[in-house]
Amino acid sequence: MTDRSGALAIISNRAPYQLKERFGRLSCERNVGGLVSVLDEMMCRSGGTWIAWGEGWGSCDEVGIPPDAPAYSLRPVPLTDQEVNHYYHGFSNRVLWPLSHYFLDRCHFRSEYWRSYQAVNEKFARAFRESGRHHDLVWIHDFHLTLLPALLRKGRPHLSIGFFWHIPFPASPVFRVLPWREEVLRGLLGSDLIGFHLPLHAEHFLRCVQDVIHTPVDCENGSILYDGRVIKVGVFPVGIDFRKWSDLASSPIIAEKARELREELGAKYIILGVDRLDYTKGIRERLLAFERFLEKYPQFHGQVCMIQTAVPSRTRVDEYRSLRREIDECIGRITGRFTARKWIPLRYLYRGFPIEELVTYYLAADLALITPLRDGMNLVAKEYVASRVKQDGGLILSEFTGAAGTLTDAIIVNPYDIEGLADAIHFALSMPDTEKRRRMERLRQAVKERDVYWWCETFLKSLAGRREPSQ
Ligand code: UDP
Repeated sequence: MTDRSGALAIISNRAPYQLKERFGRLSCERNVGGLVSVLDEMMCRSGGTWIAWGEGWGSCDEVGIPPDAPAYSLRPVPLTDQEVNHYYHGFSNRVLWPLSHYFLDRCHFRSEYWRSYQAVNEKFARAFRESGRHHDLVWIHDFHLTLLPALLRKGRPHLSIGFFWHIPFPASPVFRVLPWREEVLRGLLGSDLIGFHLPLHAEHFLRCVQDVIHTPVDCENGSILYDGRVIKVGVFPVGIDFRKWSDLASSPIIAEKARELREELGAKYIILGVDRLDYTKGIRERLLAFERFLEKYPQFHGQVCMIQTAVPSRTRVDEYRSLRREIDECIGRITGRFTARKWIPLRYLYRGFPIEELVTYYLAADLALITPLRDGMNLVAKEYVASRVKQDGGLILSEFTGAAGTLTDAIIVNPYDIEGLADAIHFALSMPDTEKRRRMERLRQAVKERDVYWWCETFLKSLAGRREPSQ
């Protein structure tokens, strides 16, 4: 392969492509997901290297991407089964994930998870060193790789390292429960710039550094003096590809599919929930609120249909299996209680959809119920808004999502308040069209202004601006 060296390296847990074998031939397929495709596009323009866990990549060392006209290199990091269990399912998904989402009772602080997490972060650092290319900027993504900034800094003190934390950052009394809190924070402090979705997450991080590391922190300006360096802490709420969703939703084929879907469901009002099946998403509480709504407002019987889709997720983790059973039971009870001869109030779809189908659901709905108990951002909320090209439809949004920081014209709710949520559904369905339109216009403007391209550019500009001129 020709040398495609470039200034930028991206390092993330998930790779942007999967290696697939078809009819004895290997092919590379891009993983779906808005963020991945945008970062991939950016790398295709800038060149450089992307280092990520190479699930299913075997002994492949490096591959040029896109395969037919390589513009950058993808370097897979192979993990053993035990590393997948301990670093990924263990420390990432059973320690840092529940801790950061305030589910302390779901944390499993096991030292074998921690040891594996350290070893895998070192593996990623080795993969970076062995890539043999000169990178000036490194952009590390997410909570799987918190130790990596300090590991990279050791060998290259002048390297510009950016880190983006994609999930909520918990308040100091919660974070400090982590037995390895100091190591995780010192790992992150190898960065020059650390990004969060919300000012609140950045404040929590700064406070944790103050409480645990006892180093000077400037909460006003978002900076930390550590090890003779000034580390910047910034707020960069991630967006979506607004144009893509808006264009898709404007297609006459999609509009026709949405019309057909409405006809099939035969309800006057369609309420939509779209989530990964995760305990942070508040699916159970949302279903309870819908049940309460049906009890409290019988005038909507026969008129309303709620569609809840749930993408199977982390199916090897026990907590997720029992959550699935819990949701199944809840769905069974509500449908059993309320279904009548010509009316099915609730439809449950336990699978993921390609975006063309997803946008059909977004367009067919009258109201989106997006009520996670805690969520770093929630892109579904933004995609729904971008898809409402006729500026209609309502949005009920949990105050505990990053999206609520931008989508202030949504009906903002506390997802734990079942009675309040039931009333919010009633309020949203009864809202005059002019009010719905007024809100949706503003929501769309907010999503359009800060799209994913804005996010990438702003973060990278800020990181490049951290470089001292002499280096
Ligand atoms: N998604 C999808 N198919 C589905 C449901 C969701 O492709 O059936 C995508 C959706 O378009 C969104 C992402 O999955 O981009 C979910 O992102 P979000 O931030 O809402 O939640 P996460 O799952 O990352 O916690």
